[in-house]
Amino acid sequence: MDKAALATALGSPAAFGQSQFAFMRGNAFEAKVKADGGTELLRLLYERLGGPGEAPHEVRVPDLAAAGPEGRAARTALALREATAAQGWTLLDHPLLALEVAGSPAYLEPDAVVVHPEGTWTVVEIKSFPMIDGSADAAKVGAAARQSAVYVLALERIAAMTEGAEVGHRVLLVCPKDFSNLPTASVVDVRKQRAVTRRQLTRLTRIEDIAATLPEDATFDPGCSPQELHRAVDAVGAAYAPECLAACELAFHCRERSRARGAVEALGRSVRGELGGLTTVGAVLAAAAGKEGDPADPTVAALRRAAALRAEALEGRAVCH
Ligand code: SF4
Repeated sequence: MDKAALATALGSPAAFGQSQFAFMRGNAFEAKVKADGGTELLRLLYERLGGPGEAPHEVRVPDLAAAGPEGRAARTALALREATAAQGWTLLDHPLLALEVAGSPAYLEPDAVVVHPEGTWTVVEIKSFPMIDGSADAAKVGAAARQSAVYVLALERIAAMTEGAEVGHRVLLVCPKDFSNLPTASVVDVRKQRAVTRRQLTRLTRIEDIAATLPEDATFDPGCSPQELHRAVDAVGAAYAPECLAACELAFHCRERSRARGAVEALGRSVRGELGGLTTVGAVLAAAAGKEGDPADPTVAALRRAAALRAEALEGRAVCH
């Protein structure tokens, strides 16, 4: 479904996504990196990852246009096989990859994939955050690594059916160098992120199983009335956490729902973890005030101790005044 349209129809539009300026700057940088048939991009890749073959002097850039996501994904798979068989350097610009997520195909579009002459496929991510003195913001690099790991998993499916192909677990991250708009690159090993994502994907509940729990008439069509949409969305369990604000278009809607229920998840996953069996703000306050909860429970005991310290501090402040 189109979650951004659904969030708007629910009355909680997402403030999610890049600003128009950042988007245009990102696009301009990517065009610069890929200009001239990918010459600069392949130079950076060879410099950082090299390989047994010769430095690229001739690069194939196949046309990946096709109708619809299925057609584009099939065209990409064919181009990858042809490129591997050709044993030269090939740059796939915005290929489309399919990956099964919770039993349904999801389509993913890496910035580029490079096929090396010896058959290695390398994911290339082009980001507009700067790399200063050879290193970039660790949180942003981590997010890029998690994103690339999903592409690696999707590529592995195609590689398994392609003779001589191997997906590289080291991806190339291209960023502007220092404060210029000249590209520079670093290699990111995504083996750990790949393993984590793979495990998470196998544990996801299948979409049909979730759909089977919904009322017959549930609809997520943004054209329906807000009441119908609220009913349908409320029927699906959600585990909102502040991290959703940076990743999901429905975050404002889920935050509202979570706050209305007094759920402690709204305060962050670590807080939720520390509070053990106390799942609502009301239960936490009641436990701290000594009205509820088992005093032998270490969480309840810690809350009471904290409440006593707070009361003591406030009393002290009153005496000073
Ligand atoms: S819980 Fe988080 S990830 Fe799930 S729908 Fe709500 S905002 Fe999105």
